[in-house]
Amino acid sequence: MRDFGTTIFAEMSALAVQTGSINLGQGFPDTDGPAAMLDRAVQAIEAGANQYPPGPGVLELRQAISEHRQAHYGLSYDPAGEILVTVGATEAIAASVLALCEPGDEVIAFEPYYDSYAASIALAQARLVAVTMRPVAGRFTFDPEELRAAVTPRTRAILVNSPHNPTGTVFTREELTVIAELCRERDLIAVTDEVYEHLTFDGVEHIPLATLPGMRERTVMISSAGKTFSVTGWKTGWVCAPPALVTAVQTVKQFLTFTAGAPWQVAVAYGLRHELEWVAALRSGLQDKRDRLMEGLSAAGFEVLRPSGTYFVQTDIRPLGFTDGLELTRRLPELAGVVAIPTQVFYDHAERGRHFVRFAFCKKDEVIDEAVTRLKHLS
Ligand code: PMP
Ligand code: GLN
Repeated sequence: MRDFGTTIFAEMSALAVQTGSINLGQGFPDTDGPAAMLDRAVQAIEAGANQYPPGPGVLELRQAISEHRQAHYGLSYDPAGEILVTVGATEAIAASVLALCEPGDEVIAFEPYYDSYAASIALAQARLVAVTMRPVAGRFTFDPEELRAAVTPRTRAILVNSPHNPTGTVFTREELTVIAELCRERDLIAVTDEVYEHLTFDGVEHIPLATLPGMRERTVMISSAGKTFSVTGWKTGWVCAPPALVTAVQTVKQFLTFTAGAPWQVAVAYGLRHELEWVAALRSGLQDKRDRLMEGLSAAGFEVLRPSGTYFVQTDIRPLGFTDGLELTRRLPELAGVVAIPTQVFYDHAERGRHFVRFAFCKKDEVIDEAVTRLKHLS
């Protein structure tokens, strides 16, 4: 793991603290989740939910996840045997890759990709094969031919993140159909990272890959409470998949963490059952914040790409006279008192992302406004 060093999120958040900069780097909200759900966690602790919960997760949460999948997507997952609660989506991804891959197997992921993918694949001694997403008419997408060409006899799985961090793309049915056809033709397993499933804008709806024909049986569907309920520190995620796949993932998970924290699970079950109106308000509030940050960044001289989901806006820094996002983000605290994330670190082909920088808008309006005021001094 020597090559992996410190994650960009840790590096940039530490830089923000050290320099007293506004942190639009690491994606975490600066306001709390629904109050009644937070209370449920406190109540759960007071009521004694303080010992190991069952390995697959607290039954009440598995039931709530099952109801939620059914109500939102028409997908039916049995709480007994098809749902596993994990320590965030991060553990779910790692356990899935470790469970599914033999050393030397290949896993396709779309670059720029979330940083834990490469690390999880390395832990499995498998190989990440990156298919590049590029902006077409202001939206990051992939070339179906490049995707097809990336499949080899060693390809075991494809990791699909939609809504996509860090580009903000929400895959369309057409894009998902290309992926699904390939999975069926080449007998691949899809591991889907859907942690931003509820955070989509402009009426765009998230479509789970598992809802496409023939996909439920070959998809390991992953999500988490962190983004949906603004509780990124609760680290409560889950896997939904057919019994054989869940059993494989659970076998690995047992020896990573055995089980996940108990009180959060009780509270997240409550959230999934009673706080979806709160989530709808979060989503429309985030859309306004996206617009606010986009407008400010454009006024500051960045070329801004419009995301349809997530917490993040991508910018092209070349109109400001900069060419290297890593260099710029390391100097940004001193130049403007703001921290952002260099998108190039999420690529295998770093040069393809050199001129992109990611800014997070999951922050209070006054924080966004102050960051924009500071960034206007850049040009
Ligand atoms: N996948 C993506 C795309 C993410 O942005 C994140 C960060 N929240 C995660 C997975 C990890 O989620 P969790 O905090 O639930 O482990
Ligand atoms: N998901 C968050 C982001 O992309 C950060 C998570 C982390 O710090 N690993 O900003």
